[in-house]
Amino acid sequence: MGKGILVVLSGPSGAGKGTICKAFLERNKSVRLSISCTTRAPREGEVDGVNYFFTEKEEFEKMIKEDKFLEYANVYGNFYGTPKSYVEETLNSGYDIILEIDTQGALNIKESFSDGVFIFVMPPSLDELKSRIIGRGTETEETLNKRFSSAADEIKLAEKYNYAVLNDTVENAVSKIESIITAEKCKINRIKDHMDVLQEV
Ligand code: 5GP
Repeated sequence: MGKGILVVLSGPSGAGKGTICKAFLERNKSVRLSISCTTRAPREGEVDGVNYFFTEKEEFEKMIKEDKFLEYANVYGNFYGTPKSYVEETLNSGYDIILEIDTQGALNIKESFSDGVFIFVMPPSLDELKSRIIGRGTETEETLNKRFSSAADEIKLAEKYNYAVLNDTVENAVSKIESIITAEKCKINRIKDHMDVLQEV
């Protein structure tokens, strides 16, 4: 069994990447999800170890010092980080893993994981993005404004990714991600070590 594929789903807050990621995982049971650590307080209904590992700031800082994160970023005033060991173990055991992270983290990982698949989730429009963030009802006015103003800047980063998926409907977006992963698995540079025929000629 070869190494798994690292899939990074990223994009601005309110683009719908969380919803897409959840729907994708429901249809693709063999793909694993990376659970991030965050210093943000849990929202109603969120469960430690399921949505995030809710981590105290001191503990998070200790993990940074001990090099336990593949990447971490300060997103709207809270720290978020991808634990390194789970990602590495999953990939080495041949499973694909999906990370749902912000643009800073995604572009950070891209520097060291050039064979990862970096997918930018596009909101259908800025108005739609705004109404999704407001509709969640989880933000204060201050964090709402932070999220709106960075969203416009973040959209400009799309060109640094390998793929862009428009979130017009969850169904369409998930199908596109499935197609991207299927195509990635057929790439010659991923399969040549496992194809005897290619090695014999
Ligand atoms: P929320 O607070 O809404 O759960 O997440 C805020 C933002 O942080 C989202 O854009 C989410 O994708 C991002 N995020 C979640 N986990 C991580 C992580 O481990 N690293 C980085 N860089 N961003 C993350």
